[in-house]
Amino acid sequence: MKKILTILLAAILCSCQDNKVQLNLTEGVYISNVTIISTEDGTYSPYIGHLVVEKDGIVYVGKDEPDISGTFEEIDGSGKFIIPGLIDSHVHIPGVQGMLPHHIEKYPELATEFKSQMPRSYLYYGFTTLIDLGGMHEEDITSYNMEQAKPDLYHVGHSGAAVANGYPMNFAPEEFRFEAAPNFIYMESQAENIPDKYDPADHSPKAVVKRIKSSGAIAVKSYYESGFGHMKGLPLPTKDIMEELLTEAHSNGLVLTVHANSFAGHSFLADIGVDIISHGLWNWEEYKDVPSDSLPVEIINMLDLQIKKQIGYTPTLTVIEGEEALADTEFLDQPSLKKVVPKDLLEWYKTEEGQWFGKKIFSELTVAEINTIYDNVQSHAMLALKYLSDNNGLILFGSDTPSGPIYSNQPGHNGNWELKLMKEAGVPLHKILASATINNAKAFRLDSALGSLVKGKKANMIIMTKSPLMDIEAYDAIEIVIIGGKVIQREDLEVKE
Ligand SMILES: [Zn+2]
Repeated sequence: MKKILTILLAAILCSCQDNKVQLNLTEGVYISNVTIISTEDGTYSPYIGHLVVEKDGIVYVGKDEPDISGTFEEIDGSGKFIIPGLIDSHVHIPGVQGMLPHHIEKYPELATEFKSQMPRSYLYYGFTTLIDLGGMHEEDITSYNMEQAKPDLYHVGHSGAAVANGYPMNFAPEEFRFEAAPNFIYMESQAENIPDKYDPADHSPKAVVKRIKSSGAIAVKSYYESGFGHMKGLPLPTKDIMEELLTEAHSNGLVLTVHANSFAGHSFLADIGVDIISHGLWNWEEYKDVPSDSLPVEIINMLDLQIKKQIGYTPTLTVIEGEEALADTEFLDQPSLKKVVPKDLLEWYKTEEGQWFGKKIFSELTVAEINTIYDNVQSHAMLALKYLSDNNGLILFGSDTPSGPIYSNQPGHNGNWELKLMKEAGVPLHKILASATINNAKAFRLDSALGSLVKGKKANMIIMTKSPLMDIEAYDAIEIVIIGGKVIQREDLEVKE
Protein backbone atom coordinates (compact mmCIF):
# COMPACT_ATOMS: atom_id res chain seq x y z
CA MET A 1 0.00 0.00 0.00
CA LYS A 2 2.77 2.35 0.99
CA LYS A 3 4.51 1.61 -2.28
CA ILE A 4 1.39 2.34 -4.32
CA LEU A 5 0.95 5.64 -2.46
CA THR A 6 4.53 6.63 -3.21
CA ILE A 7 4.09 5.85 -6.89
CA LEU A 8 0.82 7.79 -6.93
CA LEU A 9 2.43 10.76 -5.23
CA ALA A 10 5.34 10.68 -7.65
CA ALA A 11 2.89 10.60 -10.55
CA ILE A 12 1.03 13.62 -9.17
CA LEU A 13 4.27 15.49 -8.64
CA CYS A 14 5.38 14.61 -12.16
CA SER A 15 2.12 15.80 -13.68
CA CYS A 16 2.51 19.06 -11.70
CA GLN A 17 5.94 19.45 -13.17
CA ASP A 18 4.53 18.79 -16.60
CA ASN A 19 1.79 21.39 -16.05
CA LYS A 20 4.27 24.12 -15.41
CA VAL A 21 4.00 26.51 -18.33
CA GLN A 22 6.94 25.99 -20.68
CA LEU A 23 8.14 29.02 -22.57
CA ASN A 24 10.99 29.09 -25.03
CA LEU A 25 11.88 32.71 -25.73
CA THR A 26 13.97 34.35 -28.44
CA GLU A 27 13.64 38.02 -27.41
CA GLY A 28 12.03 37.67 -24.02
CA VAL A 29 11.57 39.61 -20.82
CA TYR A 30 10.74 37.76 -17.61
CA ILE A 31 9.49 39.80 -14.67
CA SER A 32 9.38 37.60 -11.58
CA ASN A 33 7.68 37.92 -8.18
CA VAL A 34 6.07 41.25 -8.99
CA THR A 35 2.75 42.55 -7.68
CA ILE A 36 0.46 42.52 -10.70
CA ILE A 37 -2.14 45.29 -10.78
CA SER A 38 -4.56 45.04 -13.67
CA THR A 39 -8.30 44.97 -14.23
CA GLU A 40 -10.84 44.24 -16.92
CA ASP A 41 -13.87 45.73 -15.17
CA GLY A 42 -12.58 48.35 -12.74
CA THR A 43 -12.19 46.09 -9.69
CA TYR A 44 -8.67 45.20 -8.60
CA SER A 45 -7.28 42.10 -6.90
CA PRO A 46 -3.49 42.58 -6.93
CA TYR A 47 -1.35 39.46 -6.47
CA ILE A 48 2.29 38.51 -6.57
CA GLY A 49 3.03 36.68 -9.79
CA HIS A 50 5.09 36.45 -12.92
CA LEU A 51 4.84 38.14 -16.29
CA VAL A 52 6.59 37.07 -19.48
CA VAL A 53 7.03 39.02 -22.70
CA GLU A 54 8.20 37.66 -26.05
CA LYS A 55 9.09 40.33 -28.61
CA ASP A 56 6.35 42.99 -28.30
CA GLY A 57 3.64 40.89 -26.71
CA ILE A 58 2.66 39.45 -23.32
CA VAL A 59 2.86 35.62 -23.43
CA TYR A 60 2.26 34.76 -19.80
CA VAL A 61 0.74 36.37 -16.69
CA GLY A 62 0.02 34.32 -13.61
CA LYS A 63 0.70 33.27 -10.03
CA ASP A 64 2.63 30.14 -10.95
CA GLU A 65 6.26 30.35 -11.86
CA PRO A 66 6.69 29.43 -15.52
CA ASP A 67 9.51 27.28 -16.86
CA ILE A 68 11.47 29.55 -19.17
CA SER A 69 14.24 28.75 -21.60
CA GLY A 70 15.92 30.54 -24.49
CA THR A 71 17.05 34.14 -24.67
CA PHE A 72 15.50 36.58 -22.23
CA GLU A 73 16.20 39.39 -19.80
CA GLU A 74 15.11 38.78 -16.22
CA ILE A 75 13.82 41.55 -13.98
CA ASP A 76 13.41 40.78 -10.30
CA GLY A 77 10.08 42.34 -9.42
CA SER A 78 10.26 41.57 -5.68
CA GLY A 79 8.67 44.38 -3.69
CA LYS A 80 7.62 46.14 -6.89
CA PHE A 81 4.38 46.74 -8.76
CA ILE A 82 3.52 46.38 -12.42
CA ILE A 83 0.62 48.09 -14.19
CA PRO A 84 -0.39 48.49 -17.83
CA GLY A 85 1.15 51.52 -19.57
CA LEU A 86 -0.92 54.67 -19.12
CA ILE A 87 -3.13 55.95 -21.93
CA ASP A 88 -3.65 59.70 -22.27
CA SER A 89 -6.68 60.14 -24.51
CA HIS A 90 -6.39 63.89 -25.02
CA VAL A 91 -3.08 65.32 -26.22
CA HIS A 92 -1.83 67.53 -29.04
CA ILE A 93 1.44 66.41 -30.58
CA PRO A 94 2.23 69.00 -33.28
CA GLY A 95 3.77 72.32 -32.24
CA VAL A 96 5.89 73.37 -29.30
CA GLN A 97 4.50 74.22 -25.88
CA GLY A 98 4.24 77.99 -25.35
CA MET A 99 5.43 78.90 -28.86
CA LEU A 100 3.62 80.35 -31.85
CA PRO A 101 4.83 79.57 -35.39
CA HIS A 102 6.83 82.82 -35.51
CA HIS A 103 8.67 81.88 -32.28
CA ILE A 104 9.52 78.48 -33.76
CA GLU A 105 10.82 80.17 -36.89
CA LYS A 106 12.98 82.50 -34.81
CA TYR A 107 14.35 79.74 -32.52
CA PRO A 108 14.38 76.55 -34.63
CA GLU A 109 16.94 74.86 -32.35
CA LEU A 110 14.59 75.16 -29.35
CA ALA A 111 11.84 73.50 -31.36
CA THR A 112 14.12 70.70 -32.55
CA GLU A 113 15.32 69.94 -29.03
CA PHE A 114 11.75 69.95 -27.73
CA LYS A 115 10.44 67.62 -30.43
CA SER A 116 13.11 65.00 -29.90
CA GLN A 117 12.61 65.01 -26.13
CA MET A 118 8.78 65.15 -26.19
CA PRO A 119 7.98 61.43 -26.79
CA ARG A 120 10.56 60.46 -24.15
CA SER A 121 8.96 62.84 -21.65
CA TYR A 122 5.62 61.12 -22.06
CA LEU A 123 7.30 57.74 -21.50
CA TYR A 124 9.20 59.13 -18.50
CA TYR A 125 5.84 59.59 -16.76
CA GLY A 126 4.52 56.18 -17.84
CA PHE A 127 2.38 57.25 -20.80
CA THR A 128 2.81 54.53 -23.41
CA THR A 129 -0.22 55.43 -25.54
CA LEU A 130 -1.30 58.87 -26.71
CA ILE A 131 -4.41 59.89 -28.58
CA ASP A 132 -4.01 63.18 -30.42
CA LEU A 133 -7.37 64.95 -30.62
CA GLY A 134 -6.30 68.00 -32.59
CA GLY A 135 -5.76 66.61 -36.06
CA MET A 136 -2.37 65.65 -37.45
CA HIS A 137 -0.99 66.05 -40.95
CA GLU A 138 1.09 63.31 -42.58
CA GLU A 139 4.31 65.23 -41.94
CA ASP A 140 3.52 65.52 -38.21
CA ILE A 141 2.97 61.77 -37.99
CA THR A 142 6.12 61.03 -40.00
CA SER A 143 8.33 63.26 -37.89
CA TYR A 144 6.91 61.78 -34.66
CA ASN A 145 7.55 58.26 -35.93
CA MET A 146 11.18 59.10 -36.62
CA GLU A 147 11.89 59.34 -32.88
CA GLN A 148 13.26 56.09 -31.47
CA ALA A 149 11.61 55.74 -28.07
CA LYS A 150 8.01 56.90 -28.22
CA PRO A 151 4.53 56.07 -26.99
CA ASP A 152 2.08 54.49 -29.44
CA LEU A 153 0.21 57.29 -31.17
CA TYR A 154 -3.38 57.36 -32.40
CA HIS A 155 -5.18 60.28 -33.99
CA VAL A 156 -8.41 61.73 -35.36
CA GLY A 157 -7.34 62.44 -38.94
CA HIS A 158 -5.97 65.56 -40.57
CA SER A 159 -8.37 67.80 -38.67
CA GLY A 160 -11.40 67.58 -36.44
CA ALA A 161 -14.93 67.75 -37.80
CA ALA A 162 -15.52 71.37 -36.79
CA VAL A 163 -18.41 73.35 -38.24
CA ALA A 164 -17.32 75.99 -40.76
CA ASN A 165 -15.93 79.08 -39.00
CA GLY A 166 -16.67 77.51 -35.60
CA TYR A 167 -14.21 76.60 -32.85
CA PRO A 168 -11.30 75.97 -33.32
CA MET A 169 -11.25 77.11 -37.00
CA ASN A 170 -11.92 80.65 -35.81
CA PHE A 171 -8.34 80.93 -34.46
CA ALA A 172 -6.84 80.81 -37.97
CA PRO A 173 -7.05 83.87 -40.24
CA GLU A 174 -9.91 83.58 -42.73
CA GLU A 175 -7.61 83.07 -45.72
CA PHE A 176 -6.00 79.95 -44.18
CA ARG A 177 -8.64 78.41 -41.95
CA PHE A 178 -10.34 76.21 -44.55
CA GLU A 179 -7.13 74.70 -45.80
CA ALA A 180 -5.99 74.08 -42.24
CA ALA A 181 -9.25 72.25 -41.43
CA PRO A 182 -9.84 69.92 -44.41
CA ASN A 183 -12.54 68.08 -42.48
CA PHE A 184 -14.75 71.09 -41.69
CA ILE A 185 -18.52 70.59 -41.83
CA TYR A 186 -20.51 72.72 -44.28
CA MET A 187 -23.42 74.49 -42.61
CA GLU A 188 -26.04 76.34 -44.67
CA SER A 189 -26.10 79.17 -42.14
CA GLN A 190 -22.40 79.77 -42.88
CA ALA A 191 -22.70 79.46 -46.68
CA GLU A 192 -21.81 83.12 -47.26
CA ASN A 193 -18.62 82.78 -45.25
CA ILE A 194 -17.31 79.66 -47.00
CA PRO A 195 -15.17 80.12 -50.15
CA ASP A 196 -16.96 78.99 -53.34
CA LYS A 197 -14.34 76.41 -54.18
CA TYR A 198 -15.59 74.11 -51.41
CA ASP A 199 -18.34 71.75 -52.51
CA PRO A 200 -20.93 71.18 -49.76
CA ALA A 201 -21.09 67.50 -50.75
CA ASP A 202 -17.42 67.08 -49.75
CA HIS A 203 -18.16 68.54 -46.33
CA SER A 204 -21.24 66.65 -45.23
CA PRO A 205 -20.82 64.59 -42.04
CA LYS A 206 -20.85 61.46 -44.19
CA ALA A 207 -18.06 62.65 -46.54
CA VAL A 208 -15.99 64.05 -43.69
CA VAL A 209 -16.16 60.91 -41.53
CA LYS A 210 -15.27 58.76 -44.54
CA ARG A 211 -12.18 60.93 -45.11
CA ILE A 212 -11.24 60.78 -41.43
CA LYS A 213 -11.55 57.00 -41.45
CA SER A 214 -9.38 56.62 -44.56
CA SER A 215 -6.60 58.70 -42.98
CA GLY A 216 -6.09 56.00 -40.34
CA ALA A 217 -7.94 57.72 -37.48
CA ILE A 218 -9.50 55.84 -34.57
CA ALA A 219 -12.01 58.54 -33.65
CA VAL A 220 -13.87 61.57 -34.95
CA LYS A 221 -13.35 64.77 -32.98
CA SER A 222 -15.97 67.48 -33.07
CA TYR A 223 -16.67 70.63 -31.06
CA TYR A 224 -19.45 72.41 -29.23
CA GLU A 225 -17.98 75.75 -28.19
CA SER A 226 -19.70 79.12 -28.44
CA GLY A 227 -16.55 80.93 -27.29
CA PHE A 228 -14.73 82.13 -24.20
CA GLY A 229 -12.66 85.16 -23.20
CA HIS A 230 -12.96 87.75 -25.96
CA MET A 231 -14.48 85.42 -28.54
CA LYS A 232 -18.23 84.99 -28.30
CA GLY A 233 -21.10 83.75 -30.45
CA LEU A 234 -19.19 81.24 -32.59
CA PRO A 235 -21.26 79.04 -34.91
CA LEU A 236 -22.37 75.78 -33.27
CA PRO A 237 -23.24 72.41 -34.78
CA THR A 238 -26.96 71.67 -35.08
CA LYS A 239 -28.49 68.61 -33.47
CA ASP A 240 -28.87 67.04 -36.93
CA ILE A 241 -25.18 67.50 -37.70
CA MET A 242 -24.04 66.00 -34.40
CA GLU A 243 -26.43 63.06 -34.73
CA GLU A 244 -25.21 62.40 -38.24
CA LEU A 245 -21.59 62.57 -37.12
CA LEU A 246 -22.38 59.98 -34.45
CA THR A 247 -24.16 57.65 -36.88
CA GLU A 248 -21.42 57.97 -39.50
CA ALA A 249 -18.64 57.50 -36.93
CA HIS A 250 -20.26 54.26 -35.73
CA SER A 251 -20.89 52.90 -39.20
CA ASN A 252 -17.18 53.46 -39.92
CA GLY A 253 -16.09 51.74 -36.70
CA LEU A 254 -14.98 55.02 -35.10
CA VAL A 255 -15.93 56.68 -31.82
CA LEU A 256 -17.15 60.27 -31.58
CA THR A 257 -15.42 62.47 -29.03
CA VAL A 258 -16.59 66.06 -28.71
CA HIS A 259 -15.06 69.16 -27.16
CA ALA A 260 -17.36 70.82 -24.63
CA ASN A 261 -16.80 72.30 -21.19
CA SER A 262 -19.97 74.35 -20.70
CA PHE A 263 -23.31 73.43 -19.20
CA ALA A 264 -24.99 74.07 -22.58
CA GLY A 265 -22.40 71.95 -24.40
CA HIS A 266 -22.50 69.03 -21.97
CA SER A 267 -26.33 69.12 -21.98
CA PHE A 268 -26.49 69.14 -25.79
CA LEU A 269 -24.07 66.19 -26.05
CA ALA A 270 -25.69 64.24 -23.20
CA ASP A 271 -29.07 64.49 -24.95
CA ILE A 272 -27.62 63.19 -28.20
CA GLY A 273 -25.60 60.52 -26.44
CA VAL A 274 -22.19 61.00 -28.05
CA ASP A 275 -19.50 58.48 -27.06
CA ILE A 276 -17.09 60.80 -25.27
CA ILE A 277 -16.94 64.41 -24.10
CA SER A 278 -13.30 65.45 -24.29
CA HIS A 279 -13.42 67.94 -21.38
CA GLY A 280 -14.93 68.13 -17.95
CA LEU A 281 -17.73 70.52 -17.02
CA TRP A 282 -16.22 73.71 -15.63
CA ASN A 283 -18.08 76.49 -17.39
CA TRP A 284 -21.27 76.46 -15.35
CA GLU A 285 -22.67 79.50 -17.18
CA GLU A 286 -25.77 80.72 -15.31
CA TYR A 287 -24.59 78.78 -12.23
CA LYS A 288 -21.04 80.13 -12.26
CA ASP A 289 -21.53 82.19 -9.10
CA VAL A 290 -23.11 79.49 -6.94
CA PRO A 291 -21.02 78.66 -3.85
CA SER A 292 -18.02 76.56 -4.83
CA ASP A 293 -19.28 73.57 -2.81
CA SER A 294 -22.82 73.38 -4.16
CA LEU A 295 -23.99 71.34 -7.09
CA PRO A 296 -27.24 72.76 -8.57
CA VAL A 297 -29.97 70.22 -9.26
CA GLU A 298 -29.98 71.15 -12.98
CA ILE A 299 -26.32 70.12 -13.20
CA ILE A 300 -26.94 66.94 -11.22
CA ASN A 301 -29.75 65.97 -13.60
CA MET A 302 -27.52 66.50 -16.60
CA LEU A 303 -24.63 64.52 -15.09
CA ASP A 304 -27.09 61.75 -14.21
CA LEU A 305 -27.99 61.52 -17.89
CA GLN A 306 -24.29 61.21 -18.83
CA ILE A 307 -23.91 58.48 -16.20
CA LYS A 308 -27.02 56.65 -17.39
CA LYS A 309 -25.75 56.68 -20.97
CA GLN A 310 -22.17 55.93 -19.83
CA ILE A 311 -20.79 58.81 -21.89
CA GLY A 312 -17.02 59.03 -21.45
CA TYR A 313 -16.09 62.06 -19.34
CA THR A 314 -12.57 63.45 -19.72
CA PRO A 315 -11.84 65.75 -16.75
CA THR A 316 -8.81 67.67 -18.22
CA LEU A 317 -8.40 69.56 -14.94
CA THR A 318 -4.96 70.82 -16.02
CA VAL A 319 -6.61 73.11 -18.57
CA ILE A 320 -7.63 75.41 -15.71
CA GLU A 321 -4.64 74.67 -13.50
CA GLY A 322 -2.19 75.14 -16.37
CA GLU A 323 -3.55 78.52 -17.38
CA GLU A 324 -3.56 79.71 -13.79
CA ALA A 325 0.08 78.57 -13.47
CA LEU A 326 1.12 81.19 -16.03
CA ALA A 327 0.68 83.69 -13.20
CA ASP A 328 2.85 81.61 -10.84
CA THR A 329 6.43 82.93 -10.95
CA GLU A 330 7.75 79.73 -9.34
CA PHE A 331 6.15 77.28 -11.72
CA LEU A 332 9.13 77.03 -14.07
CA ASP A 333 11.54 76.35 -11.20
CA GLN A 334 10.05 72.95 -10.29
CA PRO A 335 12.90 70.41 -10.32
CA SER A 336 10.62 67.86 -12.04
CA LEU A 337 10.35 70.08 -15.14
CA LYS A 338 14.11 69.94 -15.69
CA LYS A 339 13.83 66.18 -16.28
CA VAL A 340 11.43 66.55 -19.20
CA VAL A 341 11.87 70.04 -20.71
CA PRO A 342 15.12 71.00 -22.48
CA LYS A 343 17.09 73.54 -20.45
CA ASP A 344 17.28 76.23 -23.15
CA LEU A 345 13.56 76.11 -23.69
CA LEU A 346 12.89 76.41 -19.95
CA GLU A 347 15.13 79.50 -19.95
CA TRP A 348 13.28 80.97 -22.92
CA TYR A 349 9.92 80.55 -21.16
CA LYS A 350 11.22 82.85 -18.44
CA THR A 351 12.05 85.67 -20.85
CA GLU A 352 9.77 88.62 -21.62
CA GLU A 353 9.11 87.04 -25.01
CA GLY A 354 8.37 83.60 -23.54
CA GLN A 355 5.79 85.11 -21.16
CA TRP A 356 3.65 86.44 -24.03
CA PHE A 357 0.51 84.37 -23.51
CA GLY A 358 0.04 85.06 -19.81
CA LYS A 359 0.40 88.78 -20.46
CA LYS A 360 -2.17 88.56 -23.21
CA ILE A 361 -4.89 86.72 -21.28
CA PHE A 362 -4.38 88.30 -17.86
CA SER A 363 -3.65 91.89 -18.97
CA GLU A 364 -4.20 94.06 -15.89
CA LEU A 365 -5.39 91.38 -13.44
CA THR A 366 -3.42 90.92 -10.21
CA VAL A 367 -2.23 87.44 -9.21
CA ALA A 368 -4.82 87.39 -6.40
CA GLU A 369 -7.62 88.20 -8.86
CA ILE A 370 -6.41 85.52 -11.27
CA ASN A 371 -6.34 82.93 -8.47
CA THR A 372 -9.87 83.82 -7.36
CA ILE A 373 -11.26 83.44 -10.88
CA TYR A 374 -9.50 80.16 -11.69
CA ASP A 375 -10.00 78.58 -8.27
CA ASN A 376 -13.73 79.15 -8.57
CA VAL A 377 -13.86 77.52 -12.00
CA GLN A 378 -11.68 74.62 -10.85
CA SER A 379 -13.73 73.96 -7.72
CA HIS A 380 -16.79 73.57 -9.96
CA ALA A 381 -14.88 71.27 -12.32
CA MET A 382 -13.80 69.13 -9.37
CA LEU A 383 -17.31 68.98 -7.90
CA ALA A 384 -18.74 67.72 -11.18
CA LEU A 385 -15.96 65.12 -11.44
CA LYS A 386 -16.48 63.96 -7.85
CA TYR A 387 -20.20 63.54 -8.49
CA LEU A 388 -19.48 61.47 -11.58
CA SER A 389 -16.95 59.37 -9.72
CA ASP A 390 -19.27 58.76 -6.74
CA ASN A 391 -22.09 57.71 -9.02
CA ASN A 392 -20.26 55.38 -11.39
CA GLY A 393 -19.79 57.73 -14.29
CA LEU A 394 -17.37 56.64 -17.00
CA ILE A 395 -14.19 58.63 -16.37
CA LEU A 396 -11.55 58.67 -19.10
CA PHE A 397 -8.11 59.99 -18.34
CA GLY A 398 -7.09 62.88 -20.61
CA SER A 399 -4.80 65.79 -19.90
CA ASP A 400 -5.27 68.03 -22.97
CA THR A 401 -1.52 68.55 -23.23
CA PRO A 402 -1.24 71.40 -24.16
CA SER A 403 -4.67 73.05 -23.95
CA GLY A 404 -3.43 76.22 -25.64
CA PRO A 405 -0.15 77.96 -26.46
CA ILE A 406 0.95 77.61 -22.82
CA TYR A 407 4.26 76.39 -21.41
CA SER A 408 2.65 75.01 -18.27
CA ASN A 409 1.20 71.84 -19.90
CA GLN A 410 4.42 69.91 -20.60
CA PRO A 411 4.53 66.37 -22.09
CA GLY A 412 4.16 63.69 -19.43
CA HIS A 413 4.57 66.19 -16.61
CA ASN A 414 1.10 67.54 -17.31
CA GLY A 415 -0.49 64.09 -17.31
CA ASN A 416 1.19 63.37 -13.98
CA TRP A 417 -0.30 66.62 -12.65
CA GLU A 418 -3.71 65.64 -13.98
CA LEU A 419 -3.57 62.32 -12.05
CA LYS A 420 -2.86 64.27 -8.86
CA LEU A 421 -5.66 66.76 -9.48
CA MET A 422 -8.12 63.90 -9.97
CA LYS A 423 -7.08 62.63 -6.55
CA GLU A 424 -7.53 66.12 -5.12
CA ALA A 425 -11.04 66.19 -6.61
CA GLY A 426 -11.87 63.05 -4.61
CA VAL A 427 -11.62 60.32 -7.25
CA PRO A 428 -10.40 57.12 -5.53
CA LEU A 429 -7.04 55.72 -6.63
CA HIS A 430 -8.42 52.59 -8.28
CA LYS A 431 -10.74 54.68 -10.44
CA ILE A 432 -7.89 56.98 -11.43
CA LEU A 433 -5.83 53.98 -12.56
CA ALA A 434 -8.76 52.42 -14.45
CA SER A 435 -9.49 55.75 -16.17
CA ALA A 436 -5.94 55.85 -17.56
CA THR A 437 -5.81 52.19 -18.60
CA ILE A 438 -8.78 49.91 -19.24
CA ASN A 439 -11.43 52.67 -19.49
CA ASN A 440 -9.55 54.55 -22.19
CA ALA A 441 -8.68 51.32 -24.00
CA LYS A 442 -12.32 50.22 -24.11
CA ALA A 443 -13.75 53.66 -24.93
CA PHE A 444 -11.41 54.07 -27.91
CA ARG A 445 -11.76 50.40 -28.93
CA LEU A 446 -8.11 49.64 -28.32
CA ASP A 447 -8.75 47.01 -25.66
CA SER A 448 -7.94 44.01 -27.83
CA ALA A 449 -4.28 45.13 -27.56
CA LEU A 450 -4.06 47.62 -24.69
CA GLY A 451 -5.35 48.58 -21.25
CA SER A 452 -4.63 45.50 -19.15
CA LEU A 453 -1.96 42.88 -18.44
CA VAL A 454 -3.30 39.85 -20.27
CA LYS A 455 -1.71 37.21 -22.47
CA GLY A 456 -1.95 38.30 -26.09
CA LYS A 457 -1.92 42.04 -25.41
CA LYS A 458 0.89 44.39 -26.29
CA ALA A 459 3.78 44.60 -23.81
CA ASN A 460 3.25 48.22 -22.74
CA MET A 461 3.69 48.46 -18.98
CA ILE A 462 5.38 50.23 -16.11
CA ILE A 463 7.16 48.95 -13.03
CA MET A 464 6.89 51.11 -9.91
CA THR A 465 8.27 50.96 -6.39
CA LYS A 466 4.94 52.04 -4.86
CA SER A 467 1.41 50.80 -5.46
CA PRO A 468 -0.84 53.19 -7.41
CA LEU A 469 -3.78 51.68 -5.49
CA MET A 470 -2.27 52.88 -2.21
CA ASP A 471 -0.49 56.10 -3.05
CA ILE A 472 -0.83 58.73 -5.80
CA GLU A 473 2.94 59.28 -5.47
CA ALA A 474 3.38 55.88 -7.15
CA TYR A 475 3.22 57.75 -10.45
CA ASP A 476 6.43 59.48 -9.37
CA ALA A 477 7.99 56.17 -8.37
CA ILE A 478 8.29 54.65 -11.84
CA GLU A 479 11.47 52.63 -12.30
CA ILE A 480 11.09 50.94 -15.65
CA VAL A 481 8.94 51.63 -18.69
CA ILE A 482 8.33 48.79 -21.16
CA ILE A 483 7.06 49.85 -24.56
CA GLY A 484 6.36 47.19 -27.16
CA GLY A 485 8.52 44.77 -25.17
CA LYS A 486 11.47 47.19 -25.05
CA VAL A 487 12.73 47.73 -21.49
CA ILE A 488 13.76 51.30 -20.71
CA GLN A 489 15.14 52.49 -17.37
CA ARG A 490 13.32 55.65 -16.39
CA GLU A 491 16.46 57.76 -16.00
CA ASP A 492 17.39 57.03 -19.61
CA LEU A 493 14.34 58.99 -20.66
CA GLU A 494 15.36 62.23 -18.95
CA VAL A 495 16.54 65.32 -20.79
CA LYS A 496 20.19 64.82 -21.67
CA GLU A 497 22.40 67.65 -20.50
ZN1 LIG B 1 -7.46 69.68 -26.72
